[in-house]
Amino acid sequence: MSELFNKSALRDTVQKYLSEAEENLKIKSVDDEQIRAEIKSLLKEKNAVLVAHYYTEDAIQELAEETGGIIADSLEMARFGANHPAETLVVAGVKFMGETAKILSPEKTILMPTLEATCSLDIGCPIDEFSAFCDQYPDRKVVVYANTSAAVKARADWVVTSSIALDVVEHLVEQGEKIIWAPDQHLGGYIQRETGADMILWDGACIVHEEFKAKGITDLKAVYPDAAVLVHPESPEAVVEVADVVGSTSQLLNASKTMTNDTFIVATDRGIFYKMKQASPDKRFIEAPTAGSGASCRSCAHCPWMALNSLEMLRDALKNNSGEIHIQEETRVKALLPLQKMLNFQAK
Ligand code: SF4
Repeated sequence: MSELFNKSALRDTVQKYLSEAEENLKIKSVDDEQIRAEIKSLLKEKNAVLVAHYYTEDAIQELAEETGGIIADSLEMARFGANHPAETLVVAGVKFMGETAKILSPEKTILMPTLEATCSLDIGCPIDEFSAFCDQYPDRKVVVYANTSAAVKARADWVVTSSIALDVVEHLVEQGEKIIWAPDQHLGGYIQRETGADMILWDGACIVHEEFKAKGITDLKAVYPDAAVLVHPESPEAVVEVADVVGSTSQLLNASKTMTNDTFIVATDRGIFYKMKQASPDKRFIEAPTAGSGASCRSCAHCPWMALNSLEMLRDALKNNSGEIHIQEETRVKALLPLQKMLNFQAK
């Protein structure tokens, strides 16, 4: 059956979405204002700082900015938290981000709004199976994405984030190394194509980025021919192929600031729109479609685990010291080595 493509209907849908999103931004309940005030005073009282990921809700990102915290990708979150003098880091994001903070800053208390917030990549890479997989290839360097448990990091030679993965793998290729990559198969495939590295890939995937559809993006491009397409490399290869820019969340944010296009079709979690709109209020940002042939839309461009972070839970974590991250010291010390290697590499 051929797919019907109706330009005008698609334009109406996009317009409706944009109007709704703008209206939602204006709504700020009295309750939220009170919770925000409580969080601000608790942060001071507990000598704590808020470290938020780009994919958390706008209200949390706003609070991080207003209270001297940071909104960032996982690499920058880790670095900021480790260098900040606060005694407590409140990490709004998903569990591996809190664990990374604890690995780097064992002397600090690391709190999270909820420990239920995980990641399909982390879940899909259990340590026992992964370790047995690595044991089959003892001659390969084990490079794991930051979106993994502390135990998986402890089994690795290198930990990387999407903003530094290409550089690290290029460096390993120059040294003649062969690689085991885990857990995201799409990001791993992208790095393999870009660097020509000899890589064996674990078959994990991000349930948000996996949903983007190349056909939906090209249909949208027909409606907005001057739009630039920004794609996170956790997306499938066909989606990466229609991109004008492929990069980590920070790299996509930078592209949205520096490119002169007035419209952007963005294939990553829509949480990033908060910073994109803030930096370029006159530009238009449209979610890359997750509908179309073969769509299941489990995520619809927003991570269900990131969405678990709420203002209420953030307040309660600070109030009750709940959602604290603990890691076995032996695991932490082992996981620190490949993480520190990444930070040292980045510093160079
Ligand atoms: S967006 Fe994807 S990679 Fe990021 S936390 Fe959610 S499931 Fe994991």
